[in-house]
Amino acid sequence: MLLAVLNGVVVLAQPGRRQVSLIVVGGTIITQNPTRQILTPGAVAITGADIVDVGRPETITTRYRATETVSAKDEIILPGLVNTHTHAPMVMFRGLADDLALMDWLQKYIFPAEARTVSPDFVRTGTRLAVLEMIESGTTTYADMYYFEEEIAKATRESGLRGVLGETIIQLPVADARTPEEGLRHAEAFIKAFKGDPLIEPAVAPHSMYTLDGAALVASAALARRYDVPLIIHLAETEDEVKDASKRYAMTPVAYLESIGFWSPRTIAAHGVWVSDDDIQILKRRQVGVSHNPESNMKLASGSAPVTKYLAAGVALGLGTDGAASNNALDMFGAMRQAAFLAKLVTRDPTAVPAQTALDLATIGGARALGMDRMIGSLEIGKKADLITVSTTAARETPLYDPVSHLVYVTRGDDVRTTIVNGRVLMRDRHVSSLNRVAVIADAKRLAVKVVEALPK
Ligand SMILES: [Zn+2]
Repeated sequence: MLLAVLNGVVVLAQPGRRQVSLIVVGGTIITQNPTRQILTPGAVAITGADIVDVGRPETITTRYRATETVSAKDEIILPGLVNTHTHAPMVMFRGLADDLALMDWLQKYIFPAEARTVSPDFVRTGTRLAVLEMIESGTTTYADMYYFEEEIAKATRESGLRGVLGETIIQLPVADARTPEEGLRHAEAFIKAFKGDPLIEPAVAPHSMYTLDGAALVASAALARRYDVPLIIHLAETEDEVKDASKRYAMTPVAYLESIGFWSPRTIAAHGVWVSDDDIQILKRRQVGVSHNPESNMKLASGSAPVTKYLAAGVALGLGTDGAASNNALDMFGAMRQAAFLAKLVTRDPTAVPAQTALDLATIGGARALGMDRMIGSLEIGKKADLITVSTTAARETPLYDPVSHLVYVTRGDDVRTTIVNGRVLMRDRHVSSLNRVAVIADAKRLAVKVVEALPK
């Protein structure tokens, strides 16, 4: 504050406040910064795509003047959630075939249904539904692997979400490629089209070691290296995969992929359920990001990933939902809660994966698994403005002693009020502005009729 004399009158002159595009103010801020600082109340100042300040509301409003202000009174402000593994268009198979083992489910239902329905239009319609669900439930970044990934990228970019999107390579003929070679060409064109996009990070996604031969796995890794993009794969999801690797190569899946030089710090491995202690050391040494998908693993009875061992070893671990067909929702709050519960159940230790750890996995941990922790995953100056606000006023949320406990054990995706990605408000007071919600749902319902018609009789 400055004292000035104007026409003989002493006045208080405010120093110039810096203009910013957006201030989110009120409530409690869970920063997820290195000290896990919590501010009650707090505010975040945003200019363009970037966080320029985080602090007490009075400090922020003294320093900045905002074009737009989001008031989050009685809400928790936290970093947007990072879903490290999904197959966005598979929301169209939600509830189509439940209560089956992975191989039955894939071979009798999902692969045949995909063979008859997957097209650019299917992928577009499904992705719009998936990104709508993610915006409504507080996910701001997601990692994906599917077919026609360029359609996923376009729909994601339009919706305003951030995506690490991998074009799938698989040995069997699929809708967008008859062979892995064709898939790799498709992936390369996709990478060229989207590399450098502010929201989309294109990637290569060899499906798994059990659905690809060694040459295709090596070629996929080489393509990712050549363009310096992420490499996404399913890893050691079921015990059968380990048996298969043992029979074919006399190695674990992790060791086999190590033997062909597959791993790099840009790899993201989904599931990692059936891994040995040596496997964990390889994943740590190679700085592989691992995506833990507790709900999918439980629903398909695949097993439980050794989360406490991964954490003790310092592996970059994030959380994922997997595709909605094996979950059946893309709600990362559910993933957090189930990650905590499952770890406690299997270790018979209630201190395993406490609430703060579950929240870490869904935010900064996921960002690290995707190699994006310098950009997203916490509310810190210089990071991208990806944040959400969550209501705390429902009966279910009362009383509120510990906001981190509430986020993991009580909050649901529909408690999210506001979703902001790259500084853009995609949802405010539950109104999504970047997508036409009614049209997205109507289109998905129309497409569902075709899905049912395409099922093997
Ligand atoms: Zn998956």
